[in-house]
Amino acid sequence: MNSEKLLYEGKAKSVFQGEKDDEVIIKFRDDMTAGDGARKESMGQKGYLNSILCAKIFEIIEEGGVKTQLIELNEPCVMTAMKLDVIPIEVIVRNIATGSIIRKFPFEDKTPFNPPLVQMDFKDDEFHDPMLNDDIAKALGIATQEELDKLRELALKVNEIMKKMFKDIGIILVDFKIEFGKDKDGNIILGDEISPDSCRLWDSETLDMLDKELFRQGKDDEVIDAYEEVFNRLVSDEDKAKFSIQ
Ligand code: 5GP
Repeated sequence: MNSEKLLYEGKAKSVFQGEKDDEVIIKFRDDMTAGDGARKESMGQKGYLNSILCAKIFEIIEEGGVKTQLIELNEPCVMTAMKLDVIPIEVIVRNIATGSIIRKFPFEDKTPFNPPLVQMDFKDDEFHDPMLNDDIAKALGIATQEELDKLRELALKVNEIMKKMFKDIGIILVDFKIEFGKDKDGNIILGDEISPDSCRLWDSETLDMLDKELFRQGKDDEVIDAYEEVFNRLVSDEDKAKFSIQ
């Protein structure tokens, strides 16, 4: 068993070689960062909550017809996943204008986007994840036109699945970021993580924030309560039994 061979250490997850060549073990940590990693704190229970939320969300997305990297959640914080050749593009879908898009363009805060807006950023800390267009992505050699079209199609499909999933539990999906990779046959697979770290989520009634934006705004003591709220609404007792949690 060589599961302790570290392949990659991200800001909130560590990726180890799995038992099989084409599998990885993803460990969700409690670390939370903001501002390109300028601020870093350990938030108790975050890894636990996000790993289970991510597994649950990936299952629902798979049921909706989009292939994900998830193989299984071995235990809280530890996920077995397909090894992917990561595409260095952050695909962002926005249903409502807020965050960086209103700082860069003259959109009024909280304006709905109909249809949703798809944005692609180059995933590169050194260059601060600049916004891409198709020509730049192709010139960088990170995706073909066909792949870019596929990323857009899959991102919009994930948005439809997640919008409904969250609406059913009284949450508005404002925007989110996803990442993709290619399996050994070149198929594009949804990877990385979907959790309150990577989505903006608002309570449908109160419009209270239930995501990492709280941390970005320095409201650190509210973060875990918000994540727990999403967890309690999305993860059923049946899921808890399946994921071996109390
Ligand atoms: P914005 O560009 O407005 O800051 O973010 C848009 C959406 O993408 C938000 O839901 C935000 O959480 C997510 N997002 C953008 N960049 C990142 C990132 O580097 N990491 C994570 N976890 N989420 C991101």
